[in-house]
Amino acid sequence: MLTPEEKQRYDRQMMIPGIGEAGQEKIKKARVVIAGTGGLGSPIALYLTAAGVGTLRIIDNDKVELSNLNRQILHWDKDIGKAKTASAYDKLSKLNKNVTIETVHMTIDKRNVSQLTEGFNVIVDAMDNMKTRYLLNQVAIKHQVPFVHGAVSGLEGRAMTVIPGKTACIKCVYHGLPPKAKFPVLGTTPAVIGAIEATEVIKYITGIGTLLTDRLLIYDGLNMKFTELKVVRNINCEHCGDAVTGK
Ligand SMILES: [Zn+2]
Repeated sequence: MLTPEEKQRYDRQMMIPGIGEAGQEKIKKARVVIAGTGGLGSPIALYLTAAGVGTLRIIDNDKVELSNLNRQILHWDKDIGKAKTASAYDKLSKLNKNVTIETVHMTIDKRNVSQLTEGFNVIVDAMDNMKTRYLLNQVAIKHQVPFVHGAVSGLEGRAMTVIPGKTACIKCVYHGLPPKAKFPVLGTTPAVIGAIEATEVIKYITGIGTLLTDRLLIYDGLNMKFTELKVVRNINCEHCGDAVTGK
């Protein structure tokens, strides 16, 4: 049940056809894990907190640095040197007290990824490296929960939603690992892609609209164009192929 305060707070989104009070209750019950609380994680966590997602788990191993502040809008000047999870908790808990914010200051790796994401309804990619994205993709397939992927560089971004067992996964799309290197980012790029990822999460939870599945959305901010690449699930995929999932 929603409280009178919640009904007022979420009034505008509950007006959306298909959401209503029942949809808001689904959002309230949802448990979402966000891997990373940097450029992408900041808008994702802010919008999901504002929307009233019941439980948000935020995982990050980093500390706030001055060079983060052009894009990682959850972190401010006063937070330099603090753990990003602590800085995120500080802002998010003040934005919406109805949301339970769990923070995990840890590096996601092969050994802990399953435990860190178990019991959540959606896994959200807010990482800055492919290695961890692949781990999250695999664990989402293992737990049979959706994985919302996003990535940015410069003024370009990508997004895609994976529904395990039904749609293509990110390993059906990407191969190999790009060299680990510092890359440019304009702050508005993760804002655009993060907002798209948060939209996908809310749509999945409430069951409205059409998800960004079997399509890789490419945002080109420089020329202000959105394009889509059609993606087909690879039955021989290393992560979601029939041999791996035992179909
Ligand atoms: Zn796949």
